[in-house]
Amino acid sequence: MTELLEPSPQDIDRAVALLRDGQLVAFPTETVYGLGGDATSDIAVARIFDAKGRPRFNPLIVHLPSLAAAEDYAIFSPEARALAAAFWPGPLTLVVPLKEPSRLSPLVTAGLDSVAIRVPAHPVAQALLSACSIPLAAPSANPSGRVSPTRASHVLDGLGGRIAAVIDGGPCSVGVESSIVTLHPSPTLLRPGGLPVEALEAALGHPLAVAGTSPKITAPGQLASHYAPSASVRLNASTARSGEVLVGFGPINGDLTLSATGDLVEAAAALFHTLREADLQAGANGSIAFAPVPDTGLGRAINDRLRRAAAPREV
Ligand code: AMP
Ligand code: MG
Repeated sequence: MTELLEPSPQDIDRAVALLRDGQLVAFPTETVYGLGGDATSDIAVARIFDAKGRPRFNPLIVHLPSLAAAEDYAIFSPEARALAAAFWPGPLTLVVPLKEPSRLSPLVTAGLDSVAIRVPAHPVAQALLSACSIPLAAPSANPSGRVSPTRASHVLDGLGGRIAAVIDGGPCSVGVESSIVTLHPSPTLLRPGGLPVEALEAALGHPLAVAGTSPKITAPGQLASHYAPSASVRLNASTARSGEVLVGFGPINGDLTLSATGDLVEAAAALFHTLREADLQAGANGSIAFAPVPDTGLGRAINDRLRRAAAPREV
């Protein structure tokens, strides 16, 4: 059962307790309802992908209550700071370099060295983010491929029974997703959204490039080999060949395992750490073999990631 919460102090406390426990809570923002989970918890973030049935680990937007809070997690250039000062809180997401070492789960950034951050203006989102004092990963609170929810009832229609709670804050005022701007290598619009391009350009004092119109700029997760380990990768292995590091799943034991019990949420949560660890163990010219992972539920996103790791390298 999904709890229907009010935006009262008691219910915000309840939502905070659920989020600190790694559970998922949908909450209103001025753009659309977000599906919130602790962005520092691998399991919580894996649960977001599981609940939405996302076929891919694309990076998620991290929500924080203020620019000051965001500076704990990312590096803001003068240009990034100017946009944040002009439009936060509000329907603008900024993609900025990650501050290392990071407490954020690598699933939130899909292993990239940048992070998408937004400071929402909605008073309920603000109250929740301030009260929980953890960054919340929050894609739109709908099953993958469906329309974004702008009312609590839409969230329940799509995700009822799959998430711990939804806070009902009434209809969203903006009703479309945030505009996403990356600052690197230069200010570029990655996704048009609730903040008009004209407003962004006025604040910057110059025109904004648009992703997709320059061959150099691609949205993350589109490169077949993005976040590839340096070792070569073989899939659907049942045993290790000589010199290979075997990553097991379920009954296939390896040097490492994604999940000994065959739990797909646990496997997703472990995926990026395990890729790194296997890469370290294999060494630069080594090889990694992965046991098969069932291609259902979160297994589809895991297999998508593993296929990219095994793809021929782009140079
Ligand atoms: P959604 O999860 O539907 O709210 O979409 C999040 C959007 O943010 C996607 O279009 C992502 O590609 C984009 N995004 C998130 N993190 C990053 C990042 N580190 N670099 C570039 N784009 C990002
Ligand atoms: Mg969405």
